[in-house]
Amino acid sequence: MSRVVLITGGSRGIGAATARLAAAHGYAVGVNYVQAEEAARNVVGEIETAGGRAIALRGDVSKEADVVGMFERVAEELGPPTALVNNAGVVMAQARLEAMSAERLERMFAVNVMGAFLCAREAVRRMSTQHGSAGGVIVNVSSGASRRGSPGEWVDYAASKGAIDSMTIGLAKEVAAEGIRVVAVRPGLVKTEIHTAGGEPARVERMAPLVPMQRGGEPGEVAEAILWLMSSAASYTTGAILDVAGGL
Ligand code: NAP
Repeated sequence: MSRVVLITGGSRGIGAATARLAAAHGYAVGVNYVQAEEAARNVVGEIETAGGRAIALRGDVSKEADVVGMFERVAEELGPPTALVNNAGVVMAQARLEAMSAERLERMFAVNVMGAFLCAREAVRRMSTQHGSAGGVIVNVSSGASRRGSPGEWVDYAASKGAIDSMTIGLAKEVAAEGIRVVAVRPGLVKTEIHTAGGEPARVERMAPLVPMQRGGEPGEVAEAILWLMSSAASYTTGAILDVAGGL
């Protein structure tokens, strides 16, 4: 059976590195983005140039119709999805909780939590042996923030990732007998543009001395962990949350 993966937020950072690596492992790849169309098309172009199959999929993971539409396009153009990487995520300006607006909190939880839930729901509907499919794997991209809590900058973000950890544990048990594994990675400080979005482009450099390995991680190092979790080498691994954080 051909392997097909939908990677949310596949246009940049960890998602783009995962898209390239998945294609190198023989997956046909759905590369989701919400704004960065050129970046998504570049990832697709790189995969095609290397002889792989990929499509760019515009869609906001917090919008149900967009999510359903993405899964339908993947099924039609690449084949039934066998893997989902729930990677799309946002941070907002560093702030204390007392300064956070309701609008900000709604957006944070809509993208990071509702988005992951909607995508996981569509994946289960399309992968479960109860629905006549052959099973699959869902890899959630959580964050070490769920353990540390991110005081003074992103308590909202950290809590959104706490929800992802809980969903990983619960959904894994819910669908374990239906051929679907549900797992997660918790990256630490990784060199992507997300830190600029949070208002501190040099955040990785500032915090690197706090990491036992004394450095930030590369997106490709997280992608390697995701690809192992997706692979048959991880066939008895479900409900597991793998820290990829240099010891942080
Ligand atoms: P990034 O470079 O900022 O990329 C974020 C990706 O998510 C982009 O592809 C973006 O699409 C997409 N995205 C954002 N909102 C979306 C939405 N509503 N619908 C669909 N796609 C959306 O971030 P990253 O650092 O690679 O982060 C990827 C994941 O790793 C996130 O879940 C993040 O929380 C997690 N993480 C990152 C770190 C780190 O240090 N970098 C650490 C722990 C966990 P566009 O390109 O179209 O904007």
